[in-house]
Amino acid sequence: MSTLEQSTDNEEKIYCYYHPNVETRISCSSCGKPICPQDMVYTSVGVKCRECAKPVGRTAAGAKPIYYIRGAAAGLGAAIVGGIGIQLLRRLIPFGGFILAIILGYAIGEAISWGARRNSGLGFQIIAGISALIAFTLGGYIIGRSMYTGNITFLLNPISLLIAALGIFTAVARMR
Ligand SMILES: [Zn+2]
Ligand SMILES: [Zn+2]
Repeated sequence: MSTLEQSTDNEEKIYCYYHPNVETRISCSSCGKPICPQDMVYTSVGVKCRECAKPVGRTAAGAKPIYYIRGAAAGLGAAIVGGIGIQLLRRLIPFGGFILAIILGYAIGEAISWGARRNSGLGFQIIAGISALIAFTLGGYIIGRSMYTGNITFLLNPISLLIAALGIFTAVARMR
């Protein structure tokens, strides 16, 4: 193997991309950056670095930024429409809050998943959580009892808090 050839003193030393103190003669077959045995991932097409070995677009770190932007935009849209909708519906269905929260949480998760082209992962779970939080706080604020204290009364109401928590949990769980 050429990678195991004896080194000569005047040859330039190559250090691992991830571990600057570790000298190495191995490089990633995909991107070519030097890696040490700690970072080697054996794949069907040769030794790769950690980043190149990751399945494309499936993990949080592997998903392209555009999917986060699209997912966040879809989640925000669903959050605004759904957040106002749930507050209006709660007035018509007095005890429907919890069911509506699950539906809204799921719908927000669906919207993000659709926007993100079915990508999932921690980043999308965070987007889902924030979107659901916006849905419940913004909706409560806009359709609150008072224009000024709507948000505050909404957040201080334990039932509303539970409903919001359930909706946020549903949205985050949908993105697993
Ligand atoms: Zn690589
Ligand atoms: Zn290394």
